[in-house]
Amino acid sequence: MVSEVITAPSFATAADGAEHFFGTRLSSVSVTPGRASLPGAPHRERGASVILSVKQVHGTDALVLDSPVEQGQVFDGGWDALVTDQPGVMVTVRTADCVPVLLHDPVRRVVAAIHAGWRGAVAGIVPKTVALLVSRFGATVKDMRMAIGPSAGPCCYEVDEPVLTRLRDVFPEWHSVVSPVNPQKARLDLRAFVRRQALADGLDAERIATVNACTICQPDLFFSYRREGVVKATMVSGIALVPSR
Ligand SMILES: [Zn+2]
Repeated sequence: MVSEVITAPSFATAADGAEHFFGTRLSSVSVTPGRASLPGAPHRERGASVILSVKQVHGTDALVLDSPVEQGQVFDGGWDALVTDQPGVMVTVRTADCVPVLLHDPVRRVVAAIHAGWRGAVAGIVPKTVALLVSRFGATVKDMRMAIGPSAGPCCYEVDEPVLTRLRDVFPEWHSVVSPVNPQKARLDLRAFVRRQALADGLDAERIATVNACTICQPDLFFSYRREGVVKATMVSGIALVPSR
């Protein structure tokens, strides 16, 4: 039987105080961008009281949720990271080729969901969100855990010169995440780039889990803008702090 969602068991389980999932096209998780809604049954049973998704704009700004979130509450704006220390609030991102990144500090009890396409990744959305967890919530980089979800993989994700130029500008070791196809094109390993950024920030390599699944070449499991050429649908991935008893 194929599972509806993918989890990284080494990343976060209820025993660690959080639950998480990476969506597939088989997943029944539904969200209304910009409005906190009631999560589906499995997440409700595990203690999530609301599920939140917002409009994504390929930027680097984070929406910080540090007070209780009510069902139906409206969030008018665009953000590509959602951060919360509120138990029961499931923060989610929607992706189809971009990288969903989940963060958890089990000691400080704060979580984040990040939408990282090449633009956001090059602009530093992951390091910025890590820094926000530290500055705003008192999280510790050494305690932090990260899970990097299914996305366009190094097997398929071809990018051209404008993308490569931006990457070279911000990442001196760009060679390590790129393999040339021809003088104008290369395949980019976006997940490896995000992982390298996290390591450079001081996250422990053993606390970074990567789901090595490619959205482009696994059509039975994932939606892909690249493969399908149109915006058909997206996968929802999320994380929530489980309320402590
Ligand atoms: Zn692939």
